[in-house]
Amino acid sequence: MSTSKKDVYLVIGGSGFLGRHIVEALLARGDSVSVFDIVQRHHDVPFYSGDISEEEQVSDALRKSGATCIIHTASPLHGLDDPALYWKVNVDGTQAVINAALANGVPKLVYTSSAGVVFNGNDLIDVDERLPGLEKAMDPYNESKAKAEEIVLAANGKGGLYTVALRPAGIFGPGDRQFVAGLFQTWQRGQSHIQVGDNTNLFDWTYVGNCAYAHLLAADRLVPHSEKDLERLKDELHVGLPSINATTQRRRVPTSLARPLGPYVTPPPNAEKILANWEDPAYEPPVPRPAVRGKFDQFSDAALARDHDAPLQVAGQVFFITNGEPTGFWDMPRVLYGCFDAHFQRPNTKRRWILPQQLGLLLGSAAEWWAWLVGKEPGFTRYRVSYSCAWRCFNIEKARRVLGYEPQVGLEEGLERTFEWWVAERQKAGKAQ
Ligand code: NAD
Repeated sequence: MSTSKKDVYLVIGGSGFLGRHIVEALLARGDSVSVFDIVQRHHDVPFYSGDISEEEQVSDALRKSGATCIIHTASPLHGLDDPALYWKVNVDGTQAVINAALANGVPKLVYTSSAGVVFNGNDLIDVDERLPGLEKAMDPYNESKAKAEEIVLAANGKGGLYTVALRPAGIFGPGDRQFVAGLFQTWQRGQSHIQVGDNTNLFDWTYVGNCAYAHLLAADRLVPHSEKDLERLKDELHVGLPSINATTQRRRVPTSLARPLGPYVTPPPNAEKILANWEDPAYEPPVPRPAVRGKFDQFSDAALARDHDAPLQVAGQVFFITNGEPTGFWDMPRVLYGCFDAHFQRPNTKRRWILPQQLGLLLGSAAEWWAWLVGKEPGFTRYRVSYSCAWRCFNIEKARRVLGYEPQVGLEEGLERTFEWWVAERQKAGKAQ
């Protein structure tokens, strides 16, 4: 399905957290890659300094690098108090990237969108890509990401350009500048025992290496499938996918309350056998397992007929990307708090303090008002409360089927790698252990 000729890549935002992992993944498989960014942080690949909102600068980099595939991950960080900057970079800048690609005959554009474009504070439970866009985005960052995604997809198939947008959720891993730093601050303030909400809401995360891998797959498969490939994909839709077990090495369900038989009144005659198989980590279900599809399923024959098979293409499509291992929202921070406790030999022994969501929202409101009055950035906001109390889990079947994406690194290993990297960075910076 990939094109026979190797692409030459320009990673826009390649100095950033995700961008750097994409560059490394491309280098690791022997690809030719350059970076375009407003800052240079690495010196091992050709670098073009520039701002994406300046079309001529992007064009210049495309000409000089000879790129045939653009991977565009540039964006200002989330959480800045500057709506105009988000619009300028994410919307006008992305339009400039598209214009430059068209002007230079570049055939492929992979855009990093965000799972946040469908989040407005309400629960998202196993949602797939058919979920319509929001009337009102959660904040200016997500509004600009949604608009950028829209113009990227609208550009697909015009002027010889194929485009795709990936929507990762909660990226973490070595090189991250926000997630671990924020948790460390909370831990340093002695607030790691505070939890907002009851932690029954499941949340999806994405290890950065997995996210980079998804970008490479999207680039490889961006050229529209042939009839033969489509037929093969359609055949495979009738076979169940294996469960994702990158962390546990065994099938896993996202809640400890789950039982293989569900809530039943009268157990079936083979209940004991089903339970025994369930408890046995070595049990392999007979393969192939059929995929059961109802009319509301995104890959049912009816759904595909309605959409003219478009969801089976990469070009012109969006894909949610996660680790496929949703956890209670606070489980991830708690693992890292535990790492800090052990590393600094300073466990937080205070009793866990669980703040109900409604109270959290009231306090968030008060903190925002206070910060406004004294002219400071609020540390505790209603957005943060909604974010940590909502369900945010995404169905990644489309990415698995169509991109061929499978998470390579599980949550646990990802967290270990993240913490090791964080300790090494502190050592490099000469910080006390
Ligand atoms: P990052 O800030 O580490 O990287 C972004 C890069 O873009 C930086 O190197 C920055 O210098 C560059 N950049 C910013 N403005 C630019 C401009 N005008 N011109 C050229 N370069 C510019 O961010 P990240 O966490 O690696 O995020 C990468 C992408 O993934 C972003 O598009 C972000 O919206 C998206 N995303 C991130 C997350 C997450 O949890 N980090 C989740 C979902 C989506």
